[in-house]
This record gives sequence, structure tokens and C-alpha cells, in this order.
Amino acid sequence: MSAEEEIFEYEEVATDQQDEPAPSTIDPSIEPSKGTYASIHAAGFRDFLLKPLLMQSITDSGFEHPSDVQQKCIPQAMIGNDILCQAKSGMGKTAVFVLSTLQQLDTDHPIEDVKVVVLCHTRELATQISNEFERFSKHFPNVHTCAFFGGIPIAQDIQRIKDIKPCIVVGTPGRMLELVQKKHLNLSKVGHFILDECDKMLEKADMRQDVQMIFVNTPVQKQVMMFSATLPAEIRPTARNFMKDPMEIFVDDESKLTLHGLQQHFVKLEEREKNKKLIDLLDLLEFNQVVIFVKSCPRADELNRLLSEYGFPSIAIHSRLPQPERSKRYQEFKDFKHRILVATDVFGRGIDIERVNIVFNYDMPDNSDSYLHRVGRAGRFGTKGLAITFASTTEDMEVLNRVQARFEVSITPLPDEIAVDSYMSA
Ligand code: ADP
Repeated sequence: MSAEEEIFEYEEVATDQQDEPAPSTIDPSIEPSKGTYASIHAAGFRDFLLKPLLMQSITDSGFEHPSDVQQKCIPQAMIGNDILCQAKSGMGKTAVFVLSTLQQLDTDHPIEDVKVVVLCHTRELATQISNEFERFSKHFPNVHTCAFFGGIPIAQDIQRIKDIKPCIVVGTPGRMLELVQKKHLNLSKVGHFILDECDKMLEKADMRQDVQMIFVNTPVQKQVMMFSATLPAEIRPTARNFMKDPMEIFVDDESKLTLHGLQQHFVKLEEREKNKKLIDLLDLLEFNQVVIFVKSCPRADELNRLLSEYGFPSIAIHSRLPQPERSKRYQEFKDFKHRILVATDVFGRGIDIERVNIVFNYDMPDNSDSYLHRVGRAGRFGTKGLAITFASTTEDMEVLNRVQARFEVSITPLPDEIAVDSYMSA
């Protein structure tokens, strides 16, 4: 992989490139919890007066009621307003921009130009968003979507642009910028510019600059929408610089970001006790799929190897894998070919895998925002889930305390017994 291609994974450079090996072996405690469902709004999708064929795909997808964030944003987004939106994980932010842009495209005629640009921070998220566009545009033969990201030869992207002529492009900023600067992607007719996980996209200068450079290649007149579960006050002015009089939704009361279907526990233990504890818990708990977060690529490989040795159907994903292998593993996990995924923070945000009902923080995330995103991989769209965090140092306990204070969530010591129906939806 060239140095240029390597830059796409900004997040991983920061969080996933340490060389710490997984520690070796050996050494629970749990409390039954509420496991309540997140609220959904009483009004239906029909009230939005979307195009019938779009409505058809919504019904095909099994969506019955819009979530709160969809209820608030879709009516504004579908008439072209700029949107700056914070809403908790797993509540369907993707469908807000997918449905509202598809509603606005002239889908009755062939679309020659790129009309929609979506930027996000990881390759898997780009694939996932692109798949959502495909799912909801399946009754629109004139709409074509492509995802672009680093780690695969750019020649393949160039060929796909020629063959598919996408009107919707989803990608990570490095590769997208390269395609724009080398004039393979013409963004001069873009009408909708979207940033998913926008705080992540704007917080670091290198990624922000790439986003800005792509942005300036789009027309002045366009709709801009940005989304994240976390939108720190410091980032909001930067986000507003891209927008005109946006509709803003912030969750300033951070306790509202807590996922009520998710019960959260911690285990205080020594570093050397983590493996034994994890294996005991995997034996004890019932799960559909599990994601185990670790802090570095070697730790992901080592822990995966150990779990496989113990007969657990696991797989690892991190940024040091060649992209084709990484995409293959992601797809296999999505297709339920593996029940356990050991991952770095590359998987910490945005990724939506419905069957995941348990998340482990084998290593504590660096900060409370990362914790919120990681545990949000379970309990999607108001379903039940369980998050178990291993805390081995005083710094780990400090992060946990900050999470509890900020989000007013109680993260209690893992009890000895835990009712299956409290963390697994029927
Ligand atoms: P977010 O971006 O807010 O974290 P996603 O957009 O990934 O959440 O959506 C989480 C899951 O909920 C996805 O599997 C999505 O298909 C599903 N979903 C979204 N909206 C609805 C809805 N109105 N009804 C049922 N499922 C939905």
C-alpha cells in the first residue's frame, strides 16, 4: 500500500497503531437490568409524503415507524434545508440523509452527474452507507451508487466511475480527494454534501483539510447535512462554516445519549486476568454476535488467535490488514459466518450489525466519546444489548467515571448472574 493510501485511516493512525501485544492468560459479577426499548414516534413514514417508489423500499426494508431523529429531520431535509444533527447511536441517522436525498433527486430521468457526496471516516462505513443507498434506491434504475476508499488500486475506482457513472458517491476523504484532484470525479453538479460521523471528520486538521478541499470542488448552492452521536461544542462552529442557516439538533443533555436497551457493566481486574475472564464470560453468556474492542492491531490478532485456539468462532479486523482481506472479513461477519469479532477502533463508530448484542471493551477506549460509540454497536435501534468493560488501571476507572458522569449512565460491577432476556431480544 502506498503512503498516500495509508492516510485514509486517520482514525486508526491515532488509535489502532500501537504495537502492544495481547497479554497472556488468566482470571465475573452481574446485575439484572432494565433493558427498556428506545422510543419510536407514533407518526408513520407515509406522513412524509415521499415518492411512492421510495415508500415501497421503506416498506420492503421493514421500517414501520420513523425514529425520533427521523421524525425531526426528514421533513426539513427533504426540502433541502441544511442539517446539523446529533442523535444517539443506532437510531437511524443514515436513513435521514439517504431518504431525503433520494426524495430530492430527479429519479425519473437518467442522471449523468454526481449529485450526492457522502464522506465518512472508515472504509467499512463507506460500504455500509453505500449499501443503504442501494437498498432504498432499488426501485430507481437511474440511480447508481459507488463507494471509494483507500487500500485498493485507484485504477479500479476509475474504471467503476466510467462503467457505473454513479450519481451518489460515498467515500473516505483521502481517496475521494485524489479522485477529484486527478479529475476522475467531477463534483461541479453536486447538490447534496453529507458528512457522517462529522465530529471525527472535522476534529483533526489533516482530515478536515481533505474534507474542505473536496467541499470547495462542489457548487456554492447545495444542501449540507452533518451527523454524529457526539458533537462537542468546540466542533459546532467549524461545522456551521460549511452550512447556511442549518436546522440544528443537539443533545445537550448528554444523559439522553444513553441507550436504554443496553445494560452496561465493568469488571475490575489485572491485565493478566483479562483473557481468562473473557473466555469465561463468552462461555457463560448467550449471544448472537459479539464485538471485542482492543487498543492495537497486534492485540487484535493475538486475541483472535487465542479465541480460535479455545474453539471460539472469531475473526479480527484492524487497519493493518490488506484492504481486500479486511472487506472480506467485514462481509463475513455481517453475513453471520463468524460470531465473534475482535476489532480496533476502526470498527468503533457507525458500523451497524443488527445481530451484535454484546460489546466487550477488552481494552478501555481512550475517552468517553469513544466509549459511547463503541458500546452503541450493540442495542441498535432500541434493541437490547450488553456492554462489558474491563478496567485494569486507575486511568481506565477514570474514563469509566467520566462516562457515568457525562451520560448519567450507571455502569455497575458485573454481577455473577445475568438474565438472558435482559440483554437478548426475543
Ligand atoms: P445511526 O447512524 O443513528 O447510528 P443507523 O442509521 O446505522 O443508526 O441505523 C441503525 C439501524 O436501525 C439500521 O440497521 C437501520 O436499518 C435501522 N433503522 C433505521 N431506521 C429505522 C426505522 N425507522 N425502523 C426500523 N429500523 C430502522
